[in-house]
Amino acid sequence: MQAGKYEVVIIGAGVAGMTAALYLKRSGVNCLIIEGDTPGGQVVKTSIISNYPGFKSITGAELATKMLMQLKALEVEILYEKVINIKLDHDMKVVVLDDGQEILSNKIVIATGRKPRKLNLPNEERFTGHGISYCATCDGALFKDEEVVVVGGGDSALEEAIYLSSICQKVTIIHRSESFRAKSYLQDDLQYIKNIEIIKNANIVEFLISDEKFAGVRINRHHETENIKASACFVFIGYIPESNAFDDLGIIDEEGYITTNDEMETNIKGIYAIGDIRKKSVYQIVTATNDGAVAAINILKNIS
Ligand code: NAP
Repeated sequence: MQAGKYEVVIIGAGVAGMTAALYLKRSGVNCLIIEGDTPGGQVVKTSIISNYPGFKSITGAELATKMLMQLKALEVEILYEKVINIKLDHDMKVVVLDDGQEILSNKIVIATGRKPRKLNLPNEERFTGHGISYCATCDGALFKDEEVVVVGGGDSALEEAIYLSSICQKVTIIHRSESFRAKSYLQDDLQYIKNIEIIKNANIVEFLISDEKFAGVRINRHHETENIKASACFVFIGYIPESNAFDDLGIIDEEGYITTNDEMETNIKGIYAIGDIRKKSVYQIVTATNDGAVAAINILKNIS
C-alpha cells in the first residue's frame, strides 16, 4: 500500500532529525518525519545538559520537548511507525514501514541515531527495568537514598554518575580500564563528590540476583572476584548505530555507521545521514543539530 508522497522524508525524530525538519519546513518544503519510538532520541535519556548553548542547565527531556513543540507550531507532520527498508525506484525513494505501508519521497534523511550497548551478561534482559538500566533520568529516582553501580568510563557514565550521586546514597563507578575517556572537567568534578567511589581495572562478570530481585554485581579485578551490593546497575558503555534497515543500500561501514560527504549526502544521491548514525569524530547535541542544518540547507539548494 502506498501512503503519501513527499519532497523529503526524515527517518528519526532525534535532535538531528528535528533540526532538519525545522529548516525544511520553514522553507516551505513538504516533509515528513517518521519516528519509531520517542521524539528526542537519546537526548531524552540524558539527565542534565550543560553544554548546549543558550541553556546553563536543562534536562534532556525538556530540551527535546522544546524542539518538538517548535515543530508542532510549524505543523510538521510526524508519523509514529518503524521503517524497515528503503527501496530505490529510479529517482524516487520508497520508505517501507513495518505495517506494510510504502511512502514515496524524492529525498531521504536518515537520522536514526544509536542505541545503548549492553554488557550481554546472563539476566541482563530479564532484569532490565528491574534493577538494570540504561537511563539514569528515567530510573534514577526509583533508587533514591540507595546504593547503585554505574558501568563505563566515557562522558555518559561520568555525567550520569554525577547526576545519580545527587539522588542515591552511594554511587560506585566500575570501569574496565585504568583511565577514563570522559572529558577532563567531568573527571575533575568527580573528585569533589563524596558519595562516588571509583573502581578501575574491573569487569562485571555477573549480575547478582537474590530472591528473584536484583542484588548487585560480581566484579573481577586483577584476577580476584568481589561482590558489590547494589539496588541497581546503570550501564553506560557506548552505543550501537541503528542502521539495520539500511543494510542493503551499501552506505554502511563495518561498525554500522553511515558515511557521508561534508554535505551529509551518502554515496546514493538524495539519501542523507545526520546525527549519531553518521560516521564522524564528535558526537554531541550541537554536532547533531549542525548535521541537521547542513543537510537541510544542501537539500534546499538542490530543490531550488
Ligand atoms: P564512549 O565514549 O564510547 O565510552 C564508552 C565507555 O564504556 C568506555 O569507557 C569503554 O571503556 C566502556 N566500555 C565499552 N564497552 C564495554 C564493555 N563491554 N564492558 C565494560 N566497559 C565497556 O561512550 P559514551 O560515554 O556513551 O559517549 C559516546 C559519545 O557521546 C562520545 O563521543 C561522548 O563524547 C558523547 N557524549 C557527550 C556528552 C556531552 O557532551 N554532554 C554526553 C554523553 C556522551 P574503555 O575506555 O576501556 O574502552
